[in-house]
Amino acid sequence: MRTGIFYYHQKGERLQDFPQALKGILEKENIFFYDAFYPSKPPSSFELEPISSEMLYQIHSHELVEEVTKTGNFEGALFSVAGTVRAAEKIWMEEIDNAFVFTGYGDHHAGTIFFGGGCYFNGAAIAIRTLRKRFGAKRFAIIDTDAHHGDGTWEIFEADPDVLYVCFCSDHYLEKNNKVNIQVPTRIIDEEYLELVRNNFFSRVMAFQPEILFWNWGYDGTQGDYGDIGLTPDFHILLTNELTGLANKICRGRLIVVLCGGSRRDLARTLIPEMIKVISEE
Ligand SMILES: [Zn+2]
Ligand SMILES: [Zn+2]
Repeated sequence: MRTGIFYYHQKGERLQDFPQALKGILEKENIFFYDAFYPSKPPSSFELEPISSEMLYQIHSHELVEEVTKTGNFEGALFSVAGTVRAAEKIWMEEIDNAFVFTGYGDHHAGTIFFGGGCYFNGAAIAIRTLRKRFGAKRFAIIDTDAHHGDGTWEIFEADPDVLYVCFCSDHYLEKNNKVNIQVPTRIIDEEYLELVRNNFFSRVMAFQPEILFWNWGYDGTQGDYGDIGLTPDFHILLTNELTGLANKICRGRLIVVLCGGSRRDLARTLIPEMIKVISEE
């Protein structure tokens, strides 16, 4: 597989070990690295292009964009969604097959007119709207395994049956217009969670036949992180294997992994390179 890594250098603890932790991966022939914003390189050499305000307004209100500007995190939020949008475009244009997107700020709590929980803009939503407009793409699936409910993504696509959104979180079961919430117990072991995904996502997405599969991947549900539900680090690698195999079956391997919640630096350092190996070698 040709794998794109979309890398925005976020200040702070969690991603401090990057990009160094990608050593041994970036050198590979099938890895394409699109970077933005890091201290050791001049800005002119960045390869990740930001997206325009018009692209943000496809999903978010002018008021929301204005509010995000006031937080002082606009640039980080913009480059975070730019990674997801550029990944989707390059996959559509067949420059790469799949992607891992580093974000500074996540996606799924950002809706049309609201944001919160470390999310400002909704990258998957903007990517979907952009592919539809530019290329006439139609059907997309998003699986969300962050520990929290993706209220923003749900709201944006509530009336859109051509986006299958399956969210695994602590909220009760709900299913409406191809938006599905699957309740995850407050304590769970790896194998039970994998079973939940197989039973509730696999058949739905196979029947749905998306053109691209997005994965809002959070690791905040791992033991010792802020959304701890008892998962071990291994869980994420196992799930990566399963979702990579699934994407190969349903949409020619077109998978975009978007980094969402999670705070532990040691987990980021070990899990992200391992996951990139899985998606690029399958
Ligand atoms: Zn979360
Ligand atoms: Zn949910």
